[in-house]
Amino acid sequence: MSCPRVEVDLRKIRHNTRTIVGRLNARGICVNGVTKAVAGHPAIARAMLDGGVTGLAEARLRNAQRLRKAGITCPITLIRTPMLSQAGEVVKICEASYNTEITVIAGLAAAAIQQSKVHGVILMVEMGDLREGIMPQDLYHIAQQVVDLPGVALEGIGANFACLSNFAPDAAKMQSLSTLANDIEGQCGRFLQTVSGGNSANLPWALAGHATGRINQLRLGEAILLGVDPVSGSQIDGMYRDAFTLVAEVIETNTKLVCPTEIFADLDLSKRRIAPNSGHGTRVILAIGQQDTDISGLSLPPGSTLIGATSDHLVIGIRRAAPLVGSDMRFQMNYGALMRATAAPDVQTYLRNDRPAPNPRHARDPNKHLTLV
Ligand SMILES: *Cc1c(COP(=O)(O)O)cnc(C)c1O
Repeated sequence: MSCPRVEVDLRKIRHNTRTIVGRLNARGICVNGVTKAVAGHPAIARAMLDGGVTGLAEARLRNAQRLRKAGITCPITLIRTPMLSQAGEVVKICEASYNTEITVIAGLAAAAIQQSKVHGVILMVEMGDLREGIMPQDLYHIAQQVVDLPGVALEGIGANFACLSNFAPDAAKMQSLSTLANDIEGQCGRFLQTVSGGNSANLPWALAGHATGRINQLRLGEAILLGVDPVSGSQIDGMYRDAFTLVAEVIETNTKLVCPTEIFADLDLSKRRIAPNSGHGTRVILAIGQQDTDISGLSLPPGSTLIGATSDHLVIGIRRAAPLVGSDMRFQMNYGALMRATAAPDVQTYLRNDRPAPNPRHARDPNKHLTLV
């Protein structure tokens, strides 16, 4: 196996998906699996589909194309507002997209007519994140234009929370999204099939037990992949946090224990972007750097500390016996680190437990196959 690499346990992805889909289905909410943090990796997408997501969602067309090339035929929704320059490709690859600009929607409509298709449009509403979204007071006007345009179909509305501004929505916010859905239906005379309530940051709201109103879908990436609630950073009950592991190879171990005054005329190490290494133990250098992942998003193994990182090197201090040159070290990743690692050209992805057991319920308990006679 090559280094650096990401190892992914697909059984854990299937388990996480099944767990969260089960809890949300019980609340009348279905799940779109978001694959952007794994660069649209087809096997990971399939694990999400095996776990019960009703469709996939991607932010980048190239990733969606990768899914299609691998033979995935389920509905794929583009969750980043399409580039006008890509309208034709968007219609070719994706059944639907999230939109905020009528110019882009008109481009999609023209492309759809040319391809004899109808492209689904979900209008993204601004509800406080201040990233993409139509202001609620402008929604009806745009929704009516979508209804009137041949080539596109108004499929629903959606909102996004805690992406640009890190706050999770409260029940009142979600209630106003439901009200907005009812209003638009009344005004446009069209049933809104999808009311998409947001991303992993909405799970605390969705699972809290109060009424979920018109919200019938969430778009989940981080919760499924990393088993965490992105706002609190805490583990979601019953989900795996360690489906992914980043593995890097040690290329140097040394004992530069004291500040080498003979090398540094200027002892202000902060200017050199490195920490003084007294107390760090042995310095270990790994063949991985900022070009491969977000180093600040790695959890280091116990007993080690981050000394610094450059584009291609990671330097850590280890207080126990240093690993040998040529050996591997393993790290857990946060969302940003995962996203960069899976998209980096020098990082390969290796799959564990690729095939779902024919009957997962029985496969987990080997004794189920034994019959008492
Ligand atoms: C990234 C993204 C999501 C998924 O977010 P997670 O935190 O990974 O669940 C959902 N919707 C939109 C619009 C996004 O950009």
